[in-house]
Amino acid sequence: MENKITGHTRLVGLYATPIRHSVSPMIQNTAFQALGIDAVYLAFELGTDRLPQVIDSIRNLDMLGANLSMPNKMAAVPLMDDLSEAAKLVGAINTIVNVNGKLTGHITDGTGFMRSLKDMDIDIIGRKMTLIGAGGAATAIIVQAALDGVKEIAVYNRRDEFFEKVKEKLTYIKQQTGCNIHLHDLENESELAADVKDSTLLVNATGVGMKPDLEAAPISDFSIITKDLAVFDVIYTPRETRLLKEAKARGAKTANGLGMLLYQGAAAFELWTGKEMPIETVKSIIENS
Ligand code: NAD
Repeated sequence: MENKITGHTRLVGLYATPIRHSVSPMIQNTAFQALGIDAVYLAFELGTDRLPQVIDSIRNLDMLGANLSMPNKMAAVPLMDDLSEAAKLVGAINTIVNVNGKLTGHITDGTGFMRSLKDMDIDIIGRKMTLIGAGGAATAIIVQAALDGVKEIAVYNRRDEFFEKVKEKLTYIKQQTGCNIHLHDLENESELAADVKDSTLLVNATGVGMKPDLEAAPISDFSIITKDLAVFDVIYTPRETRLLKEAKARGAKTANGLGMLLYQGAAAFELWTGKEMPIETVKSIIENS
């Protein structure tokens, strides 16, 4: 790679652990280079212990900003000067923008998800979707979908120790956005079938189906999937989960989480630079990762 770092080069950091596997440095540096932006994106293996000092260094080093992943997404929230509307509702951030020392926290996973639906040619605005999972990825998706005007979201999660907390959180998001969000036990298969029947889109927002358990799926009765349903899986390794294979076999439109990954990065890039990410240039890097 040609070295074009100058005395003016601005830094964007990625703070997470583990992080060495991340494709984000390749994505963002390719985009900076393609548009001739004098900036560099570097990954730092970092947990929550030194987060306050590291966040402060964004101001002190006049960095463009940062990305955050686990375990820092929630811990960074109280360290921000301001938060986007979605970040306030989710209670987590993945992107920090520095403008003259003022740090604003954003969450771009949900916008990444909504934008990737356009590639599927799916419109869920004013419609209903059913979503499985209620963790970090699910909450970001629910909040952005609700803010963008999705009418109803049926959320299914296993009844674990977090179920009541999740219920409270979803009630709050429902009150703040006016979207009809309701939570159900994932074991309730008849309710799930009824919700899926009325939905335009079914989303898996759990890690069920990832390596090594490639035969696992978040639902057991695939007959609830018809050709009129679209099915989205946030997982991108493997590229086609068991859920997506079963959906495809039933004629449903399908998409994996690669688009969401790409567009959450594109949204962050646009927040730092004010420029649109050159998607086609970057896409091949993700697809081959
Ligand atoms: P998380 O730990 O915050 O949430 C996991 C959710 O899955 C919880 O609701 C949990 O109850 C549920 N779950 C876990 N095991 C389950 C099981 N056996 N049966 C039923 N439900 C189960 O995790 P997260 O950060 O929300 O990540 C979830 C998935 O989303 C991961 O695979 C992650 O790689 C993926 N992800 C993708 C993108 C993207 O850009 N495509 C972005 C973020 C996360």
